[in-house]
Amino acid sequence: MRLILLGPPGAGKGTQAQRLVQKHGIVQLSTGDLLRAAVKAGTAVGLRAKDMMERGELVPDDVVVTIVSDRIEQPDARKGFILDGFPRTVPQAVALDRMLKQKGLALDAVIELKVDGAILQQRIASRIAQAQARGEPLRSDDDPEVLKRRIGAYREQTAPLVDYYRWQGSLKSVDGMAPIPAVATAIDRALRGVPASAAKKAAKKAKPVKAKAAKGKATTGGGKRTAGVGSRTRTIAGHKAAAGARRVRG
Ligand code: AMP
Repeated sequence: MRLILLGPPGAGKGTQAQRLVQKHGIVQLSTGDLLRAAVKAGTAVGLRAKDMMERGELVPDDVVVTIVSDRIEQPDARKGFILDGFPRTVPQAVALDRMLKQKGLALDAVIELKVDGAILQQRIASRIAQAQARGEPLRSDDDPEVLKRRIGAYREQTAPLVDYYRWQGSLKSVDGMAPIPAVATAIDRALRGVPASAAKKAAKKAKPVKAKAAKGKATTGGGKRTAGVGSRTRTIAGHKAAAGARRVRG
């Protein structure tokens, strides 16, 4: 299974990715981790990326695409992968499509964890306040201002990918504000191509807290394309739709 998880920082991508890795025997490929490892190992890619990473800039697309391409070829990625931190922009998504096509591979699904940015910030702020009240050390990303900036960067650069993958018919949108088990159930249902209404019922059943889990929902973002994932025919059709989308966008 080949997946992309999309969502702003704090949406719960890491938690859901770990579960999917266990469940499907696939690997999580984080471009940030791969680049840091390349820098540490002093490889040619690492040497190119080092300064840009230190300045907090995005490294050039060809560098990240190469690093992902090489990693996908490794034996442990044979059963599939979840991409984390890549693609970050629409041009990277286009490059990923091209690269997968050259390898004769295709994405099975792109899962969007839909969250409300304002509620997310409130949640993190209250988690920080509670941790401080207990005298616990804070996580490095437990800073409301930093989070706000990262959510802003996501909205500007990465959120357009939601439309890109919706056009392709591979987008599965899930309510990321629901409790973790309900989100997990909604993702599993969405991956099996279960219609939104049934996924909603399942999310309700999985809830630990009644009122909150009632919010859990999964929708196939592709509108008309509600077929199950893993269909090569559907994915090829998606590529055509994407080509159309690119033409529309110029
Ligand atoms: P991360 O761990 O995902 O926050 O990534 C750390 C750094 O690696 C970023 O600040 C970028 O410099 C670089 N990086 C990671 N993923 C990408 C990507 N998809 N495109 C460009 N640069 C990336």
